[in-house]
This record gives sequence, C-alpha cells and structure tokens, in this order.
Amino acid sequence: MTFTCQQTETSRLEALHRLRLLDTPPSEAFDRITRMAARVFGLPIAAVSLTDADRQWFKSRVGVEHTSIPRVKAPCGTVADTGGVLVIPDLLADDYFCDSILAASGVRYYAGAPLTTADGHCLGAMCVLGPEPRHTTPEELGHLSDLAAMVMAQIELQHAMGRVDPLSGLPNRNQFIEDFQDMQRDGPPDEQRLAVVVNLATLEQLGSAARVKSSSYLDQLVSEATQWMRAQIEPGRQIYHVGDAQFAMFAPPCATLEDYVPRLKEKLRRAIGLAHSRHIATPSIGVAPFVLGGANCLDVLRTAQSAAHGAASQPCRIAIYSRAEDAACQRRFRLLNEFGSALEGGGQLRLVFQPRVDMKTGACVGAEALLRWTHPELGNISPGEFIPVIECSGLAQPTTAWVLNAALRQQRAWRNAGLQVQMAVNVSAANLIEPDFVAQVEHCLNMYDLPPSCLELEITESAIMEHPERAQATLAAIGDIGVHLAIDDFGTGYSSLSYLQSMPADVVKIDQSFIIGLEDDVRKQSLVSTMITLTRDLGHRVVAEGVECSAVHAFLQVAGCDEAQGYLFARPLEAASFLSWCGGGSAEAQAGRRLLRALA
Ligand code: C2E
Ligand code: MG
Ligand code: MG
Repeated sequence: MTFTCQQTETSRLEALHRLRLLDTPPSEAFDRITRMAARVFGLPIAAVSLTDADRQWFKSRVGVEHTSIPRVKAPCGTVADTGGVLVIPDLLADDYFCDSILAASGVRYYAGAPLTTADGHCLGAMCVLGPEPRHTTPEELGHLSDLAAMVMAQIELQHAMGRVDPLSGLPNRNQFIEDFQDMQRDGPPDEQRLAVVVNLATLEQLGSAARVKSSSYLDQLVSEATQWMRAQIEPGRQIYHVGDAQFAMFAPPCATLEDYVPRLKEKLRRAIGLAHSRHIATPSIGVAPFVLGGANCLDVLRTAQSAAHGAASQPCRIAIYSRAEDAACQRRFRLLNEFGSALEGGGQLRLVFQPRVDMKTGACVGAEALLRWTHPELGNISPGEFIPVIECSGLAQPTTAWVLNAALRQQRAWRNAGLQVQMAVNVSAANLIEPDFVAQVEHCLNMYDLPPSCLELEITESAIMEHPERAQATLAAIGDIGVHLAIDDFGTGYSSLSYLQSMPADVVKIDQSFIIGLEDDVRKQSLVSTMITLTRDLGHRVVAEGVECSAVHAFLQVAGCDEAQGYLFARPLEAASFLSWCGGGSAEAQAGRRLLRALA
C-alpha cells in the first residue's frame, strides 16, 4: 500500500470507529433493509458488512451464522478499498477470489454496493451472496445501491437524531430505548433480565463541582469513566450514556441478582478507589430486574435510575430496585406536586391548635398552630410526612405565609372573643434566608391589628444551622420587632451551647423524644434536668413537648420546667374546640381543667 493509500485507510478506519457501530447489538432498523436485499435478489444471504482493520463485521445479517469473517480476500473489503460496486458472478471462476474463505464455504455469487459516508469514506458494503453462479441485471444493481444508501441514511439518521452522545461517543438514551424495544421483541419471552444504571457522582457532588470547576471537569469525569467501563464490560456488550453523568447497560442474559450484584459490587469498590483519588465523586449503581416481553422501557430505566439514586446513601453504594421505595418516592412526588394547588385554596388546608400550659398555674398560656392537609383522594396526610417534602422545595415560603396568615386571623378572632394566648407558628429554614421575611411578619401583624408579642416563631436548631449567619441576622431582626422566638425540637439538632448562648430566643422547647418515656428512664431524667437547668440559666423559658402522663408532668415540675405541651392536656384541637377547651363548658374542657388543677 502506498503512503497515500495508508493515510486514506487510516482516516477511513477513524471514520468507521467514530460511528461506534462495530460490535453493537443487532438492530431491527438495519435488519429490515438486509431482509429486503435478500428478497430483491431472491438469495439466501445478505449482510451490512463493515470493513474493520482486519475483519468484516456484520451489523446486520441474513443467512449467516458468524458475526464477522477475516478481511483477507473478503469481497466487501475490496468494496471498501475501491469505493465502487463489486459483482462477482462466480467466485470459483475469479482469479483473485477463487481461493477466498467465502469460496471455500460454498459461496459462488457476490454483489456488493459501497456504504459511503457524506464525506466520502467507504465503511464497507451492503452485500448479497448465493450458493450458485449468477448474472446481475442493471435493475438489481440499482436496487442494491439504493439499499446501501438506505443503510447509510439509517447510520446518519442515528447520529443526526442524537443516538450517540458526542462527548462519550456512547449510544445515548434514545438508542437505549430502541435497543430495549428490539430486545423485548426478539428476546425469549418472559426471560428475567437486569437493567443497570451507574451514576458517576451524586447530584450534590455534580452541583458543587459545577460551582467551582469549569465544565471540563464533567467532560473529563465522563471520558475517564467511559474508558474504564468499556474495559470492564464483557466484549460485545453495550454501555449507554443516558444522563449527564449517568450510564446504563443490560446484564448478560443469564445473569441473576445473586451472581451479578456481587460482581458489580467488586467492580464498584475498585471504581470508588479510582474516583476518589482523581475526582471528588462517588459512583453508585442501581439494578432493576424486568421481564422480557411485558416491560415498559421508560419504567425500567426510571426504576434503575431511582435505585442508583437511593444507592448513594447505602454503605456499599449499590441498590436493587424496591417496589416499596419506589412507591414512597412516587408518593413524595405526588404530595409535592399537589400541595401547590392545596395552597391556592379549596379548603384542603387548615390549622389545629395545641395548648401550652403553665406548669405552676395550669393555665393555658399559648397555642401552637399545626398545619393539617386533607387531600381529596389520599385523605389526611400527616405534617410529619408532607412538611419535610415541601421544605426541600420552593413551597416552604408560601406555606409559612399561609400558616402565618391563618394563625394570626385566628388570633384576632380569639382576641375578639376575649381569649388572650400567645400564638406559636413553625417556620422553615427557607424563611430565615428570605430577605423580606421580617417585613412579611410585621405586615401580617398589622393587617390583623395585633401586637408583636402575641406571636412566637418556632424554629429548629437544624434549620438555623443550614445558614447560621443569615439565620442569626433574621432571628435578631425578628427579636427587634418584638416577636418572640422559640427553639423547637431542642436536643435533636446540633445543640451547640455556644450558639444557644448567643441566640436571641425567648423559649427553648425540649423535643418530645426526651420527654416521652421519661418516667421510666433515669438517664433521660438526668439529661432533661440538665437541659432545663442549663437553658433556664441562659435566660430562656423551658417548654417540654410530648407530655403524655402525670408522672412526667410531676417530674418536670420538680425539675423547674416552665411550660408543657402534650396529650396529657390536649391533642391539637380545632379552633372552636380550643376556645371551649380554654374557657368554655364542654365536658372535655372541664375534665382538662379539673386535671390541670389536680396537677398544679
Ligand atoms: P413540632 O413543631 O415539634 O410539633 C409538635 C408535634 O408533636 C405535633 O405533631 C403534635 O401533634 C405532636 N405532639 C404534641 N403533643 C404530643 C404528645 O404528647 N405525644 C406525641 N407523641 N406527640 C405530640 P404534628 O402536628 O404531627 O406536627 C409534626 C411536625 O410537623 C411539627 O413538629 C412541625 O415540625 C411540623 N409542622 C406542623 N405544622 C407545621 C407548620 O405549619 N409549618 C411548619 N414549617 N412545620 C409544621
Ligand atoms: Mg413546633
Ligand atoms: Mg417540636
């Protein structure tokens, strides 16, 4: 071969390899054309044959068992070299091809049309072969060239339609979907298969990398991971690039969870070592089993992705799709989606109020406003479930605004009815970084003509610690306008004494986990006594949450606790019941007051 020929062959091979067609699974889009070629010629064998450095590899084939043959003396190799149509009426009568492998295997007739790219590289041939010598009509040759052009259109279409990711060069999500559908149609029905999704890093890691590094960080992560995965995966198996830093593949047909997952674990263990040393990224893997024939591709991909996401919090960073977890995720998503319309009105949301009582006098001194959501289909949803979901979203601020407005409207109504108690409202971490939060609170108080001291805002330690400096500034501003502040769920978060000392809080509410069961737990008792002494010494009033029995109440009284809240006194009450509980004459209210007097 001359130097120029060598150069042409090198760039031809580069063009072929760039297309990433070699060793990819069969595809119906190509098989359809190949079947048509065999029919047009009335011949048993047809193939889309790509000319690699030393082999002819068949992207699609009819009537041939092998997926490739050596390039030496293969007629398709000659088509690739010359770029022209080649017809051999009888291989045995041909001086050059008479001793070729094809001739030795009984093939006598060959016709091949070049598969030429738009920039002129010949990738191989669309060919038909037969066991008898044969003539070819010009019309047949025309058809063969048309079919070769259709193959090329298909190849180019795949690229134009974005079947290959430009960065990794791997087939992308669209190709995953098409291959999945082919596999569903052609694979043995009811066969159990495994889809695997690999995340190179958590969303948080990608987010923080994007803030400090250029996009070349992700590019490098993806290309190194691609190379690594290609080296790990069995030859002939495909990896798909389905998200920014996310890959998918199918486990080999016979793989089971029992044998395949430990193998994945081992590979992942080595990958994590590499990833940690070169990138601040922790890969995770999700595996989703499915049954061929009846599976929905997007569902399988979604469940494997969801498992991979969940795997990020597992010690081994690999997780198998769980129906229960999926249902929980779906429910969280639904709640988040539908809470927005609940906020817009329609009576799904309401507040209930739980009394706070003074330990010494037994008088009701306050009410904590607690949100309730009655979903039109799902029924009552506990705030323990929906509040954490919405607190991770942009809905946290409008929710507090809704609660604040409803609570102060109620406060106004009670005051008009002669009831003077402080109203406590829970606020979220997101409120503490809202620039106009304090102004909103002030505006709402003015709207209902209420003094700032009638409102207490409850905030957890963890919420403060999300943005300590901005939170401190907001809390100081809240204190400045005369609204009271309570640290909620004290003891469950950071409980840093230095921040407690600097906090402008009026009240510290000891979390119910320390209070419930206190009567039988000596360690809890000494912990709670210490908490009470400490917080009181720092100048805060102490409220115990979750007081359920009189023994606990008695203990707290001796320990010096200022106020208590809990089922012993009342569960959260509807607004009207709260009013009668405090001053009215219902049997429940009277019983409650009798109890309080007895305890005081
Ligand atoms: P939290 O602020 O600590 O509220 C106290 C929770 O303890 C309430 O649950 C209350 O019903 C419950 N509780 C009161 N006494 C007892 C008792 O004696 N025993 C037991 N086992 N539980 C008792 P709820 O209403 O389910 O609220 C749960 C959490 O949801 C609240 O905890 C608060 O963090 C959040 N939440 C509720 N309403 C709102 C709201 O309007 N805004 C925000 N941001 N969070 C809210
Ligand atoms: Mg609270
Ligand atoms: Mg609490």
